[in-house]
Amino acid sequence: MKLVTRVAIIIALVAVPAAIIAFSFVYNLLRNEIINPSKNDQLTLTKNNLNTVDRFLEERQVSIAILADSQIALNLANNPSSTPDLQAATKTLSSFVEGTGYWDSVVMVSGNDQILASSSADNSEIEQTLKQNQAVVTKALGGDTTYSNEFVDPSGDQTMIFASPVQNGTAVIGFIKWRAISDVLASLPGNLIGLFNSEGKMIGSSDPEEIVVPTAVTTAGQSKEGIEVETLDNEQFIVSYTSETGYKNYAGNNWIMTISRPAAEVYTVAERLPRALIVSFSLSTLGVMILLTLFIARLLRPINNMTTTANKIALGDLTQRVQIRSSDEFGQLGKAFNNMADRLQLIYKNLESKVQERTNQLAQKVDEVERERAKDEAILSSIGEGMIAVNADGTVAIVNRVATQMLMLDENQVIGKPVLQVMKLLTGVGLPVIDKESPVALALQTGKMSDGVFGMQDEQGKRQIAIVANPIFQDRKIIGAIMIFHDVTKEREIDRMKTEFISLASHQLRTPLSAIKWFSEMLISGDAGKLTEDQTEFAKNIYASTERMIELVNSLLNISRIESGRIIVDPKPTDLKELVNGIVQDLKEKLEQKQQTLIISVHEDLGKINLDPRLISQVYLNFLTNAIKYTPKGGEISVFISRKGDEVVSQVADNGYGIPKAQQNRVFNKFFRAENIVKVETEGTGLGLYLVKAIVESSGGKVWFRSEEGKGTSFWFSLPITGMKARAGEVSLDA
Ligand code: ADP
Repeated sequence: MKLVTRVAIIIALVAVPAAIIAFSFVYNLLRNEIINPSKNDQLTLTKNNLNTVDRFLEERQVSIAILADSQIALNLANNPSSTPDLQAATKTLSSFVEGTGYWDSVVMVSGNDQILASSSADNSEIEQTLKQNQAVVTKALGGDTTYSNEFVDPSGDQTMIFASPVQNGTAVIGFIKWRAISDVLASLPGNLIGLFNSEGKMIGSSDPEEIVVPTAVTTAGQSKEGIEVETLDNEQFIVSYTSETGYKNYAGNNWIMTISRPAAEVYTVAERLPRALIVSFSLSTLGVMILLTLFIARLLRPINNMTTTANKIALGDLTQRVQIRSSDEFGQLGKAFNNMADRLQLIYKNLESKVQERTNQLAQKVDEVERERAKDEAILSSIGEGMIAVNADGTVAIVNRVATQMLMLDENQVIGKPVLQVMKLLTGVGLPVIDKESPVALALQTGKMSDGVFGMQDEQGKRQIAIVANPIFQDRKIIGAIMIFHDVTKEREIDRMKTEFISLASHQLRTPLSAIKWFSEMLISGDAGKLTEDQTEFAKNIYASTERMIELVNSLLNISRIESGRIIVDPKPTDLKELVNGIVQDLKEKLEQKQQTLIISVHEDLGKINLDPRLISQVYLNFLTNAIKYTPKGGEISVFISRKGDEVVSQVADNGYGIPKAQQNRVFNKFFRAENIVKVETEGTGLGLYLVKAIVESSGGKVWFRSEEGKGTSFWFSLPITGMKARAGEVSLDA
């Protein structure tokens, strides 16, 4: 809604109720101001009118008194039987009646109601009337000027009489013509004038045709004067009334004068002025409102201009400015607005150049990043190994060319996909690798490096892949993993061939070696004749060397059997304590030679475990043989077998020479022999621990050690409490 419209509405909302209240107040005030005086005026007029009537009647009383005091009346009173006086009196009375026009008849009476003279020819009705008004006649004969109330004479005419004494018991009595009173009433100012006697009977009216008899007359007896609103024939009248107070010698008959005015007439007059005023006020208020609205609209014009300009600026035209026409607050606002627009334009210009500058910088950065990326990509693609980086959820984030080539997929077929979906791995025996056991999953889960050689079946056939997966950390959180892998199918094949060759060679070597051993034994025991001391010594050397060679050949053969996966695994419930004791029995001689003590401690409730005793014996035998070999005379060796969770953990500890720190990472490598013992103990192949690791890991266990040079060594290996899984295989280990 526009501001002007709102202002107009506010003005209307404020002004209209205020005007209504003010107008109704003025209207009522003026109306009452007009009605009340008008009512009072009507009452005053009523009083004046009654006064006029009384004055008229007082004049009538005076004129009868003058007539009674006249010489002619005196003469007749003194000589009632004198004919000239009677004639003179009769003539005077007649001309009095004719001359004034107010009287019906005038008579002169004596004491016994006898009419001495009369204005009229027929006195019979007059005599009756006089009898009717005996009190008035008697009072006049007694010497007082007096008058009667209104009454109806025997012929039905309305009248009243005035009487005044003459002399010697005579009086003049006049019968007034009621018509004369009616004429007075008709001549009075005002509407519907009524005259009532004290009993409320109407005795005169200004308009005999339309007689209005207000009920106010009935109350007039109690209150002398007043003004009331009366309803007659559904029309309202304002009725003023007053009762008589008399005039000079005329005391009156307590008559009541009324004036009735139609109320509508009074109200119409009373309402005309306020209405006219209200109409003119309303028009002027409306005019003021319109002018005010126009004025405010004009006042707000600069704001409208500013709004239009601001909108144009908002749409991008920063050159727009408002025109300043005044120096008032709006002018100042306009100036401030224009200043702001100037600043805005300036800022915008600066901003544009800054944006340009930033855009250039950004483009440069993007270029750099792009180059860096290209470089990274070049580095990644030049890595001869396949590389896949995955996010924490295992989806592929980066892949290099070697990897896509190996997977025979496009980059976009790999990126964003779960790595286990694009690279399906197989175990050594060709079964699919369980997802959570894949190297990437393990690296993500454990936060440690995980590696292994897996099979992979694809269009290129069956391949062997060596995988190393490492977790990627950021702020100590694993955010993904990186997997490096390469095809080892050929190496594995060569390895297999090597193993096969060693196996074959060892096998073939064993027969001649056994023959040499056997013949040298025969030579020593003198089967070919007694030998000289030197000959015996040589034959013993041949025997010992051949035995060592057989031992080496056996070890090589065992290793090749384990590696080829052809080994038979035949688990049976085994008591480890018994097993270890059996091995120790065989080693007793060696222990005694070196005067070493051996402690064996086996967990009480361990029970029998499902193991292949021949394989596991090899593990204990190797650990114990090493402990004896690599611990000086008088040393201590201990074997602890205990249960930890769902694993059986065996520890073989000694306080011997230990393994140098620098070489500890190679302990389980083939043919490894530590520097510190090569001189001390010349016998050894460096194949024992390699074989141990192969046996333990192929049984689902783990092997580890802790050693300190000069202090001793502890080897541990764990096996699942559930034992080993049986495998049909082809060959078993040679002892
Ligand atoms: P061998 O005993 O025939 O040399 P092994 O594979 O059994 O071969 O052991 C490899 C090497 O590990 C040993 O030559 C020796 O240096 C070291 N070693 C193994 N056991 C011990 C031990 N208990 N104390 C010290 N060194 C050990």
